[in-house]
Amino acid sequence: MISKKLAKAINDQINAEMWSAYLYLSMSQDIYAKGFKGIAHWYKVQFLEEQAHAAIMINYLHSQDEKVILAPIAKVQTEWKTVLKAFEDTLEHEKKVTAMINNLCDIADEDRDRAAANFLAWFVDEQVEEEENARDLIAQCKMIGDNTNGMLMLDKELGIRVYKTPAPLQNAE
Ligand code: MG
Repeated sequence: MISKKLAKAINDQINAEMWSAYLYLSMSQDIYAKGFKGIAHWYKVQFLEEQAHAAIMINYLHSQDEKVILAPIAKVQTEWKTVLKAFEDTLEHEKKVTAMINNLCDIADEDRDRAAANFLAWFVDEQVEEEENARDLIAQCKMIGDNTNGMLMLDKELGIRVYKTPAPLQNAE
């Protein structure tokens, strides 16, 4: 059985994942307004992924017979100076999320809660991927610099991203 402390922390994390979703939807809107529809699409997929993260945590609390308590979602930034700045903020944000996931793992360890540790391992791996993606985007954007053709190529490349239902949600209700 999950501890009250860990259940509360996962409840808080659900809010953080929803806030992430909202942040990425906001980035998507600003980038769309800047004319980069492909990059805006990439962020829209990111928005869907973050909602999925929240859904995975909701399912886990249900499996532990815990009530999910939804808190208000705080406001997000709505404008970024450049696409590069949005990519940089994405990496900074994901680093913070990694720290939050690590904190959940610490609580699971303190509780000697093997099921929770197992459950959280998926998120640990996911964060490695999230940070790597953001780092790659920053590197590509810096290489492109102020080359318009380069930005248009990146826009095209990111526009083909397809949302895939994360493994923990496949076969879930
Ligand atoms: Mg997430």
